[in-house]
Amino acid sequence: MMFMPKLQGKNVIVTGASSGIGQAIAICFAREGANVAINYRGGREQAEATAARMSACPETAKTGSRHFIVQADVSQEQDVKEMFRQTIAEFGGLDILINNAGIQKAAPSHEVEASDFDRVLGVNLRGPFLCSREAIRHFLSRPGGGVIVNNSSVHESIPKPQYLSYSISKGGMENLTRTLALEYADRGIRVNAVGPGAIATPINRAWIDDPKARGEVESHIPMGRAGTSEEIAAVFAFLASDEASYITGQTLYACGGLTLFPEFRGTWSS
Ligand code: NAD
Repeated sequence: MMFMPKLQGKNVIVTGASSGIGQAIAICFAREGANVAINYRGGREQAEATAARMSACPETAKTGSRHFIVQADVSQEQDVKEMFRQTIAEFGGLDILINNAGIQKAAPSHEVEASDFDRVLGVNLRGPFLCSREAIRHFLSRPGGGVIVNNSSVHESIPKPQYLSYSISKGGMENLTRTLALEYADRGIRVNAVGPGAIATPINRAWIDDPKARGEVESHIPMGRAGTSEEIAAVFAFLASDEASYITGQTLYACGGLTLFPEFRGTWSS
């Protein structure tokens, strides 16, 4: 069958592309023909590993996809402005923003330090706001519109005790997605989100390599397993592509059934 790249020639920023889901998105988008700005905050070697994996894909060579590495802390306004300036200078424009960077910190809610709360909200919510604002300013400055896809979570709608700031950030992301989608729908700008369930990435280092802890996590997932970063990246590619040209303001959950109220697998309520 002929290979038809979904994102041929599109210019993209992927935030937090030096590990986990962001790295998989960057690689997937390059295979689909996009030019990718690989954003990282600290640890350039990991961003270089993303770039090396992109270059090693035979599809990337076929599509002629380009990439470059750009350092920025997404919670810092000047960093974000400079990242957009560099990306637009490098590629000549921007078509797609992927707000992927995110962090979490566990603590009983009555013991959360205000500085930790601010940091999580800063990266997970202020960051996507700052990046979306810069992207939309650019999208409006030339014809063609643009696309934003946010990395949300099942915790956009499912509460997560002991992760108060994370829950709040992902809950807030729902209205970031929906408000921007509504505000700019008539100007060719689509804004959507992906809501992953439990995915085997460094953010879940507490259980991914511990068979007992992992078994406990997976026992709660209707499909019986954690997801992979590649499975999530494929959903981002779909929402970023013209295949999703009539979809805006939505969160597409990719969670093995976690949002289906798994406790109701058996009939216990009546
Ligand atoms: P990860 O820890 O591998 O990736 C997070 C990335 O964000 C890292 O590359 C990190 O360097 C980057 N980052 C952190 N702070 C940053 C900042 N200030 N500026 C720029 N980059 C920054 O974990 P992941 O699972 O790949 O997480 C990616 C996204 O997926 C997050 O938004 C997370 O909330 C979301 N998510 C993950 C899961 C999961 O189970 N892994 C589930 C739902 C949602």
